[in-house]
Amino acid sequence: MTDVPEADRPGSSTASHTDALLDRLERVVGAAHVITDPDVRRSYEVDWTGRYAGEARAVIRPASTSEVVEILRMCHAAGCPIVPQGGNTGLVGGGVPVDEGRGAIVMSLRRLDRRDAVDLVSGQVTVGAGVTLAALQRHVRGAGWDFGVDLGARDSATVGGMIATNAGGLRLVRYGGMRQQVVGLEAVLADGRRVERLGGLLKDNTGYDLAGLMTGSEGTLAVITRARLRLVAPQPNRAVAVVGLNTLADALEVVVALRAELTTLDAVEVFFADGLRLVCERAGLRPPFEVPTAVYLLIETADRPAAPDPAHTLSEAIARLGPRLVVDASIVTEPAARRELWRLREAHTEVINALGAEVGAPHKLDVTLPAAALVDFVDRVSDLVATMAPSAKLFLFGHLADGNLHVNVLGPDADDDRVDDAVLRLVVDLGGSISAEHGIGRAKRRWLELDRGPVAVEAMRAIRRALDPRAILNPGVLVSPDGIAAP
Ligand SMILES: Cc1cc2nc3c(=O)[nH]c(=O)nc-3n(C[C@H](O)[C@H](O)[C@H](O)COP(=O)(O)OP(=O)(O)OC[C@H]3O[C@@H](n4cnc5c(N)ncnc54)[C@H](O)[C@@H]3O)c2cc1C
Repeated sequence: MTDVPEADRPGSSTASHTDALLDRLERVVGAAHVITDPDVRRSYEVDWTGRYAGEARAVIRPASTSEVVEILRMCHAAGCPIVPQGGNTGLVGGGVPVDEGRGAIVMSLRRLDRRDAVDLVSGQVTVGAGVTLAALQRHVRGAGWDFGVDLGARDSATVGGMIATNAGGLRLVRYGGMRQQVVGLEAVLADGRRVERLGGLLKDNTGYDLAGLMTGSEGTLAVITRARLRLVAPQPNRAVAVVGLNTLADALEVVVALRAELTTLDAVEVFFADGLRLVCERAGLRPPFEVPTAVYLLIETADRPAAPDPAHTLSEAIARLGPRLVVDASIVTEPAARRELWRLREAHTEVINALGAEVGAPHKLDVTLPAAALVDFVDRVSDLVATMAPSAKLFLFGHLADGNLHVNVLGPDADDDRVDDAVLRLVVDLGGSISAEHGIGRAKRRWLELDRGPVAVEAMRAIRRALDPRAILNPGVLVSPDGIAAP
């Protein structure tokens, strides 16, 4: 993916302004890190899809936890809303200042990029919230370990953002999502008080799990500044297959069979013929087979260095599925060939976004369904979009082993959410979740109660009120701040 532009240009803030709060904040982080120049602010004010944008009073870029503490103390006292931001790759509009208007300050955490030495005894590492996933991967792989979560936005997405959204990613089937990797956190509450539990204890039943609570809180409960993460053993012996199938039902049968047979399954991704066609046209990729199929699975297995030939094991498992299920298959082990097959799946997000730049930003609905409802969902969502928005384009892809589909609808205006409403209602009717891994953000706040029910939402609101009584942290995100004293 394209890197989110980094606006770390000294002197990019205006030299002097009449904003007393910004003057005080400059004394904390330095004038170069309080950005008010609209051109430099812009990349922090628009989300990755281009669907959500606003105007910030300033962008502030602290470099340490103590600077975050000072900033929050001042903003809390002044009642100034803060939008925490990491790599700005989020897909639900949660990291940009939309409905706070010019009053909100975007706090970019990317300068919190310290990486402590890997703890080889516990297999854990402590890193700053601004460390990108790719930098984390390089750091821990250099010490003989690996990290269990991976995703396409790895060059820009940060550890803090991934924890705040409880990111899932490509390897959830094997290692779980971010919540399963977080062993401890350091975070700063809205009023500037710091909470910290970074000792790396695997067993720690001392009351409420604050790190667990903050994971998935989307910047509404605290600003995450550091994290203690669990690492996994590297599995370099890899094979990647693309399998062509006739139906989604066949694909699900394949997933069930492979999960039962292979303990080395790292990823099982799905995409469809129209998405593959778009990816090949726009990203210049070669289709995997001469004759297209309706459905494609991308399967990766990963094993220890001394394990038997992974391509052999995977091809035998696929061969056993037989021609009734498998129309065509291609299996590779060389790193360049593996990357090429992975591009077929990973390029979906960026080519759909590029098409959106021409026809209007995509409506991105990231949902999970119970396995038994997936086929019904895909049939009904296609009919529903065709009926409600006949000229719209629908692209589906996702993490099939997790029941997670990314529903992308291009065509309806950015603020026309009738199709979103119908799709999310269908998801709830079928027993699914309106957000599998991207979070609620601004995009799905309206439907949170539909999914979770009024009691759960009121409990969330009560937690939010308790930790941030003035509602300065990301006020327009996740759970409506109704009943919270506005700043
Ligand atoms: C090409 C592409 C592929 C993707 N693939 C996946 C995928 O497979 N799985 C998946 O789950 N997501 C995926 N995403 C979505 C996105 O990368 C994740 O949501 C990621 O976790 C966001 O990290 P970030 O640092 O960019 O956070 P941002 O976008 O900057 O912020 C996201 C949210 O977290 C909050 N936040 C950020 N940093 C902090 C902090 N330090 N403290 C408190 N709150 C904070 C923000 O306020 C916002 O609400 C993808 C995105 C793209 C563009």
